[in-house]
Amino acid sequence: MTCVNLPEICLFRNRQFCPPAAATIDAINRSFKSINVLIWQVVRKRCGVMNDFISLTLQAAGVVLAADFAAGLVHWIEDAYIREDTPWLGRWIGRPNIVHHHLPRRMTRNTWWESNKELLMAMGALVIAAGWLGCLTWHVWLGCLTWHVWLFALVGGNANEVHKWSHRTRRENGRFITLLQDWRILQTPQHHTMHHTNPKEVHYCPVTNALNPVLDALRFWEVLEWLLEHVVGLKRQPDSSVPGQGIPPEWIAEMRRAG
Ligand SMILES: [Zn+2]
Ligand SMILES: [Zn+2]
Repeated sequence: MTCVNLPEICLFRNRQFCPPAAATIDAINRSFKSINVLIWQVVRKRCGVMNDFISLTLQAAGVVLAADFAAGLVHWIEDAYIREDTPWLGRWIGRPNIVHHHLPRRMTRNTWWESNKELLMAMGALVIAAGWLGCLTWHVWLGCLTWHVWLFALVGGNANEVHKWSHRTRRENGRFITLLQDWRILQTPQHHTMHHTNPKEVHYCPVTNALNPVLDALRFWEVLEWLLEHVVGLKRQPDSSVPGQGIPPEWIAEMRRAG
């Protein structure tokens, strides 16, 4: 190693400067490199966690909206085509639906099971089907029984419960549900009121506030009804809870009197 005298102007002019040995420089370089790698790994890991979080949140939101859409589709079919005299489904689905349009608050008396049994059974069938398909190797591409299916079944199976919460008062809902409605995570009662406004042909999705404005702006349900009428001759049925669309059944008047 060669040392040199420092110049006169230097603060340490009476000292000698000895350049570090190549091995020392190498060691310093290696240290910097490993610190760089470490920082990069931490940044990458943090970005990875953030990306995973964003991706999972978007997937969950997509699944919730899909379940909201499915519940809206079922609601639209009930409202537009199923009445008390519809074969098979009339007494089971048509009658409670007629009651709901005439006496919306009556559903708040129903238990969780009474409100949701049909959708829960449908979602149970979906979960069983997804699990069964997962057992068959040639159907693995379908996605099988992932958390998406469970979340879809959970939200779809309880869609009518969320609908019921839209008809309850803030006091009946309690603080937690009211908070979820105030934060627009669940559908608000004000939003659902649009569905019960005559002629009751909009805002079918019951879980969130997100889909209805889009579907109604696209006239999605109207177009479907037009297609069904003009392609297969299936006409939307009149709704006796809307003035000018028929006389309400006598049993509705009795229910109203009974309170
Ligand atoms: Zn309805
Ligand atoms: Zn309602």
